[in-house]
Parts: sequence; C-alpha cells; structure tokens
Amino acid sequence: MRNTAPNQSDEALYLADAGYIDSDSLEMHRGHLVVTPGDDGSIEFIDAIPEGAKRIECAGRIVTRSFAVAHHHIYSCLARGMPPPGEAPESFVEILERIWWNLDRKLDLEMIRVSALAAGVEAAKCGTTLIIDHHASPNTVSGCLSTIAESLERVGLSHVLCYELSDRDGPASRKAGLEETREFLQAHQGLVGLHASFTVSDALLDQAMELAHEYETGIHVHVAEAESDQEHCLATYGMRCVERFARAGALDMSRTILAHCIHLDESERERLGSSQAWVSQQAESNLNNGVGVCDARGFEEKMMLGTDGMNGDCLAAARASFLAGQALDAPTPLAIYRRLRRVHEYLAGAGFVGDGPNNLVLLNYDPPTPITKDNWPAHVVYALNRSHVDTVISNGRVIVSGGRSTLVDEQEIMSMAREQASRLWSRL
Ligand SMILES: [Zn+2]
Repeated sequence: MRNTAPNQSDEALYLADAGYIDSDSLEMHRGHLVVTPGDDGSIEFIDAIPEGAKRIECAGRIVTRSFAVAHHHIYSCLARGMPPPGEAPESFVEILERIWWNLDRKLDLEMIRVSALAAGVEAAKCGTTLIIDHHASPNTVSGCLSTIAESLERVGLSHVLCYELSDRDGPASRKAGLEETREFLQAHQGLVGLHASFTVSDALLDQAMELAHEYETGIHVHVAEAESDQEHCLATYGMRCVERFARAGALDMSRTILAHCIHLDESERERLGSSQAWVSQQAESNLNNGVGVCDARGFEEKMMLGTDGMNGDCLAAARASFLAGQALDAPTPLAIYRRLRRVHEYLAGAGFVGDGPNNLVLLNYDPPTPITKDNWPAHVVYALNRSHVDTVISNGRVIVSGGRSTLVDEQEIMSMAREQASRLWSRL
C-alpha cells in the first residue's frame, strides 16, 4: 500500500543553522536539525552534523512545517484560461452545468495523469506536501484514482484521494464510481467522495456510508456551497443539508470533510461545532463563483483550508480566507493561521500517513519587521507567499530545491499539460 512517494534513500538529511518555527507553539528555535525519512520519520535538534552527511545550509532562512491542501480538484488544472461557455452562467448550478460538468465529462486517463503531474508540481513549489483531492471524471472512472496517486507520488507528494460519487450522470456512472472507490480503498488511504446533497439520492448516500464504514474512513462532500443546495434538500428531503448528512451518520465520523458550509443556519452551526466532522474553506473559489463567504462562527475549531482546484497554494488560500472574512466573522491572523494548520490535526487524528514532522518547507523570507511568536501569523497572512518557498521536504526527502522540482522535469510536464489542455478544450 502506498499513499506517499517511495523514498529510495533511508539517509537522514541535515539542516544546518536552521531558524525553525514550530507550527503549533509558534516558538522559534535555532540550531542544526536532523530529518529522518519515511512515513514515521521525525526531526530533532542536534549539536553537530556528521562529516560527509547530506546537508542544506539554512542560515538566514526560515524552516517550518510544509502545507497540506484540505480540498482540491486536481483535474481542473487543465481548465486555466480555457474558452468560456457559449452562454454565460447565471447561477451556481449553471456554473457547474456549463463549465465544470462539461469539462469533467470530457476527461480521459491521459488528461487525468498529466493534470495530476502538473497540479502536483505546482502544489509542491508552493510548499505543499500532501493533497486531499476530490476527483470527478464520469466517463473515465476505472483506474482514475490510482492514476492520480501515481502522478502525485512521482512528484513526491502524499495524498488522500476520493472519487466524487453522484447521481448526475446516471446509474452506470454511479456504479463505476462506487467500484472505483472500493478498488482504491482496498489498497490506499482515502475517503468516500460525494458531490453534494442535490445530486446524491438517498440510495447513493446509503451506499457511500456503507463503504465509509467498511473501510473505516469518512465522507468528503460539498455542503451548502450555494443556497440552492439547501433549497433542494428542503424541497426533496424536508430537511437542511447538515441534518441530512448527520442523520446518515457522516458527522459521527472523524475523517469526514464537509467542504464550503457557507449557507448554514444556527442549528446547523451548532450541530457541526459539536460533531466529529471537519470543514474546509475555499475562499478564492467562493469569491470566484460569487456564492458567499464561510462564516465560521460556531465551528471555528473545525476549519481547515482548501483550494478547490484554483491552485495548490495554501498560503494564497490563507490570505483569501483572511481578507474575505473581514466583513463577516472577522477572523484574526492567528485564527487563519490555525485554519491553515488544522489539516495536520485532521490527518494525524485520521491516522493518514504522509504528514509527519519530517514534512518541511524552507522559506527565503527576509522581512522588514521582526518575527516573534506572537506576530508570525500576521507575517503569514500579510506577506508570506509562494515566491518565498525555496526548498520543500516531503517525508524527509527534498522534492523542491531552489524553487524547482527535483524528482521530475517540470518543463516537460508543463509542456505535456499544455498538449492535454488543447486536446481537452477541443472537446468542450
Ligand atoms: Zn470542491
């Protein structure tokens, strides 16, 4: 079973003169660090670096934990700059129908493979070492998840994948999605994906819950991204979305991720706040779709950050959620920083591998003001960005050095991606 990139070497890596910021306590420690590889690898301060050891000079740089995307759609990597639909969408459901469902129905395995390589390279260069993805390709279902897994592992990334089950493309596609989910979970860590309440029948919800129980995992689903999801749920099932997933048992599972949760009422907030489930916020995508902004009052302690296919950049997600929230629940820099980092708590609690302390990012960040334990979150939300990412260490192995991928030829991958993008766009 693989969920992380195989590390050929069991050699330890030494970070000389590191200024290390602990991602929980925010304390800065200085010294030499030894990083051991593998899923159970660790980091430790040491007095001296052995002669001839593999070392990276870190003086003047900041070393801290790398990032993980809590909700992504890797396949939308090939959508950047694609031609707009013939008729402009006027609602969120029309955005799905005319843009995203039109696109995902045209994906074949080669496009999926290459989009995952390209999205993986981009994410890695942003300091991301693990992606929780939500994938849909209704006409190319069999083998899609292992294809994404292999691509991400080539780049050096770990993953928690799922297939987006839905009734929107009919019974054959639904059945293929269930089979793909089962097949993948037999050999990998992952989740049971559902699109959203408004395209998931009770029969499918039951089947998804059965699978989640069987493989001791959770549900990964879009919830109340637009008000129309709630309207459909009330009209069809006589209850609101959170109630529907709670009654099915999905909120009792500590691996469950509810993406978005924008249009919730008070009772849903309370229910979510006291549940076992987690929430991922995708502020950039929400602003792009004009669906509103997540107000996290009542469930702030559940909040993680995703990118929803916009990019693999967790720092951009953090800044967007900080800015978008100011007119609403007004999160502080520290609250946003905790949202950025909560994914580590989620992954550790779930027992998912690939996000241990040996996942690190080295930042070339030379600020005009002092960094302290108290103001580091403000540096993160106001200034830190992907251009500061120099080196990325995934499971103890360097996957980005000097801002470039070390395990794959990124120029070749982007060139392949542009070819696949043209092929995909010609089908739209
Ligand atoms: Zn999404």
